[in-house]
Amino acid sequence: MTKIAMKTPLVEMDGDEMTRILWQMIKDKLILPFVDLKTEYYDLGLLHRNETKDQVTVDAAMATKKYGVAVKCATITPNKQRMEEYPQLTEMWKSPNGTIRSLLDGTVFRVPIVIPAIKAVVKNWEKPITIARHAYGDVYKSVDLHTQEPGTCTMTFKGESGAETTLVVQKVDGPAIWQGAHNTEKSIRSFARACFQYAIDSKQDLWFSTKDTIAKVYDGTFKSIFEEEFENYKAKFEALGLTYFYTLIDDAVARVIRSRGGFIWACKNYDGDVMSDMVSTAFGSLAMMTSVLIAPDGTTEYEAAHGTVTRHYYRHLKGEATSTNPMATIFAWSGAFKKRGELDTLPELANFGQKLEEACFDTLNAGIMTKDLVGLVEPGFEAKAVTSEEFLDEVAKRLETLLK
Ligand code: NAP
Ligand code: MG
Repeated sequence: MTKIAMKTPLVEMDGDEMTRILWQMIKDKLILPFVDLKTEYYDLGLLHRNETKDQVTVDAAMATKKYGVAVKCATITPNKQRMEEYPQLTEMWKSPNGTIRSLLDGTVFRVPIVIPAIKAVVKNWEKPITIARHAYGDVYKSVDLHTQEPGTCTMTFKGESGAETTLVVQKVDGPAIWQGAHNTEKSIRSFARACFQYAIDSKQDLWFSTKDTIAKVYDGTFKSIFEEEFENYKAKFEALGLTYFYTLIDDAVARVIRSRGGFIWACKNYDGDVMSDMVSTAFGSLAMMTSVLIAPDGTTEYEAAHGTVTRHYYRHLKGEATSTNPMATIFAWSGAFKKRGELDTLPELANFGQKLEEACFDTLNAGIMTKDLVGLVEPGFEAKAVTSEEFLDEVAKRLETLLK
């Protein structure tokens, strides 16, 4: 078989622990035998981030901007416990995802992978629901204050022109708590554009919800920016028969539960944090959740939504063959190939991404799956738990047939 050619390299960001092991297995078994793989490799493994003083993360983000498509393995975000586990760390390095996200200024889209044998907890959800989470500001970049006596809290904005605006937040007669949050028009606008573009690319309706009846100015601004930006996408939406639909967050929750799925639900930062965990759990498993970061200029970075699966890694180190689910990591690669193929007009490469996903579905639909999924299978479906390696071998076998 002649290998499928590539033009532009993918930015490949390697990672940590069990996902790093899976990363290599996926390349060896599912990619290198079929594709003449071109990547620009960045080792985002924790120790290499430490050696480079985290410069490698910045370099990887800049390369992503340059080439347009990246695929990332899960990485450790060090905390206190990790500092003890890896005494050579010179600093508690920041989350690579946070660093990359702030350099690319993107929106995160999370899409569950669904199969017939595993039904969503919500029985009428037939198609996946994609959560588009605004990843800047609000409570995540807010300041808090706890005060102890009666008094008045005010909020003042000082413009660079010298103009000042002051508002009374509240007068209180005892101890109280306070919070100051913000967002920027620029960030909201790029969030809106990313959502409309993603809806067009994936041919799905877009829902957006906030609480503008209560937060009239704050959430009201989100709503009106979305309306303004929609004007630039309206014609394309109409041509594709898609709708943009705005509703209050509480109404959205009720409608989402009653829906059949198959749409994008755009959420403000906090709503997206909470709702994406709700949606992914209801669809089955964190191991089946893919994630893509899309920047306003169209730059994309594909990854799995789960972490480095530490517990499995320690079992792997003891020589045990683990049954860690590689689906979301495989789909990060397939997503990147499809995108790269489209950008470079390489239909064969895009087709490879498509076939790789089909081979995964064929394997799962044959009842061959990792342990985490077996327990979720509906009565009437047969399922057998296999190790990660056996699962990948089964996918490889089917992929070979599909590519013939
Ligand atoms: P995690 O790696 O997602 O794993 C949590 C648990 O979920 C696992 O112990 C496992 O349960 C199950 N699980 C997750 N992915 C699975 C898979 N592919 N196959 C089978 N089971 C899977 O989360 P964590 O333990 O909280 O975090 C571990 C490290 O990952 C941390 O250092 C964190 O910083 C990092 N992290 C990175 C990212 C990222 O790079 N995007 C995201 C989140 C966390 P059982 O053990 O019960 O089988
Ligand atoms: Mg969360």
